[in-house]
Amino acid sequence: MTTKTGLLGPYRLTFDGINSAVARQSAGVYALGSMDPHGNFRVKHVGRADSDIRATLCERIGSDVLFKVGFFATARAAFEKECELFHDFSPPGNRIHPGRAKGTNWECPRCKIFKTGS
Ligand SMILES: [Zn+2]
Repeated sequence: MTTKTGLLGPYRLTFDGINSAVARQSAGVYALGSMDPHGNFRVKHVGRADSDIRATLCERIGSDVLFKVGFFATARAAFEKECELFHDFSPPGNRIHPGRAKGTNWECPRCKIFKTGS
């Protein structure tokens, strides 16, 4: 089974790697992981940034070897992509469903976790 993340990369999760891959300040989604012996990127953890993906990735330096990244115009679009990655890959580093930003009524495109009264 090969499921594509649809993200850019992988890049090295280092300050230089982030600097060369992420030039802009943007909402975004990232996947952390490493290559398996067959040369496939293994997703271990996914996350998002509502405003500055670059700063968020810098905070994750040291937690894994490689990252993939996607840029989004809005935090909501980044959230929906994060949910899709969470459901597609069941990353071992994500024990709970991605959370929506405070004060929003965003819903997961894949499941009913945020539906109330059901
Ligand atoms: Zn969901």
